[in-house]
Amino acid sequence: MHIPSLTIASVRQGLAEKQFSAVELAQEALAFAKAENPKTNAYLTFSDDRAITAAREVDARIARGHDPGALGGVPVGVKDVIVTRGVRTTCGSRLLENFIPPYDATAIERLEAAGGVILGKANCDEFAMGSSNENSAFGPVRNPVALDRVPGGSSGGSAAVVAQGTAVVSLGSDTGGSIRQPASFCGCVGVTPTYGRVSRYGLVAFASSLDHIGPFARTVADSATLLQTIAGRDSHDATSSTHAVPDYAAAMQLPLQGLRIGLPKEYFSGLAGEIGDRMQAGIEVLKKQGCQIVDISLPHTEYAIAAYYIICTAEVSANLSRFDGVRFTSRSPKAESLIDMYRNSRGEGFGPEAKRRIMLGAYVLSHGYYDAYYLKAQRVRSLITRDFAQAFENVDALVAPVSPFPAFKLGEKTSDPLQMYLSDIYTITGSLAGIPCMSVPCGNTASGLPVGMQILTKHFSEDLMFRIAHQYEINGGFSA
Ligand code: GLN
Repeated sequence: MHIPSLTIASVRQGLAEKQFSAVELAQEALAFAKAENPKTNAYLTFSDDRAITAAREVDARIARGHDPGALGGVPVGVKDVIVTRGVRTTCGSRLLENFIPPYDATAIERLEAAGGVILGKANCDEFAMGSSNENSAFGPVRNPVALDRVPGGSSGGSAAVVAQGTAVVSLGSDTGGSIRQPASFCGCVGVTPTYGRVSRYGLVAFASSLDHIGPFARTVADSATLLQTIAGRDSHDATSSTHAVPDYAAAMQLPLQGLRIGLPKEYFSGLAGEIGDRMQAGIEVLKKQGCQIVDISLPHTEYAIAAYYIICTAEVSANLSRFDGVRFTSRSPKAESLIDMYRNSRGEGFGPEAKRRIMLGAYVLSHGYYDAYYLKAQRVRSLITRDFAQAFENVDALVAPVSPFPAFKLGEKTSDPLQMYLSDIYTITGSLAGIPCMSVPCGNTASGLPVGMQILTKHFSEDLMFRIAHQYEINGGFSA
């Protein structure tokens, strides 16, 4: 078996035809991932015992004549901000270097119930804050496509394991673009579902009103299967939705004839050179499938970054207060008083980006500034959400770039946080509105760097989004 070219369907077929057992596949996939990992630093922890136990269960199901499950035997990587019982979960932070969670996230339970085999935990920016994976306390991830470049962030490890072929699919999290942007930098598919489509129970909170769990895969079909298994109401997360989960695989088969696709002018006006050319090529593929392309406007786009970095830092300053050296995290030994102990544990444990956001967040929430910053940002968020709602009265879906540039060099933007923040310019709006959005490959630049195209639809219309993405893929869009 050739691990890097496996898909969910080929694993299923291999098991059915007894080409390999799930345990053999898990062993081989683990050995391959461990051999490849030094190149990219994409996995932080391997979960051999858990993987083999899950694979044995899949083999036992097959031996009993039962279905192995939608993800039966499939090797999966999991971003290290999603808790896994008995398997170290660091959130990319020194503070949680030795944290072993006592429970599983709902998404983890569901993917294992469907037969998924978790190989290990994927590197990420500390507490998912970043756009390049360079904020990880355990070293950056290198992009498997170009090892001197970043894989994007914050789910850089989750994108890299799929692109490198050391997992068939993976789970990431997206708060302002952390699934779509690394997917575009590494040339894979990345899906941010509707807010509430997937339970956040067991996702370590960054900015709770914006956090999403979502899949990475090499094909649209695989990403849809993974979402299908983890989506749906969960009584542990009050924000998870009761909306029925449609059959994505069936929806994807429908042609695109007659769909109206909007191109938001604010996303294309400043788009230079090769990214613009790749986008045009991708749009041509959709046109050939019978889509009608319509120019539209999302007028409040320019305020999105400012609003996002107020809302997200405010939520960070509240959410990260739990890491106090008492309950979860490593405790500083150098302390003469309780206050010193808090101060030292947090001071030694958090990296610079986490500290920057905690301070900014405390400031925007502080008495006297709340109305001027936080409240105003929430109002802007409503306007951005309304922009999308108005657009979807006129079109079925939107297409936009994912990032203004392809994967940049390691170290290129680390000295300028604002430059780093600006790289989220095209992804943050969808996050603020809570609508489903995904990145699909859209060819490469002349120097061989992947470019991603973003597809956005109305709340809970992942079925339509997957349909557009799948038809685009099978009609040559990925190499447009
Ligand atoms: N890059 C954005 C940030 O740093 C988004 C991160 C994310 O989506 N987790 O906040």
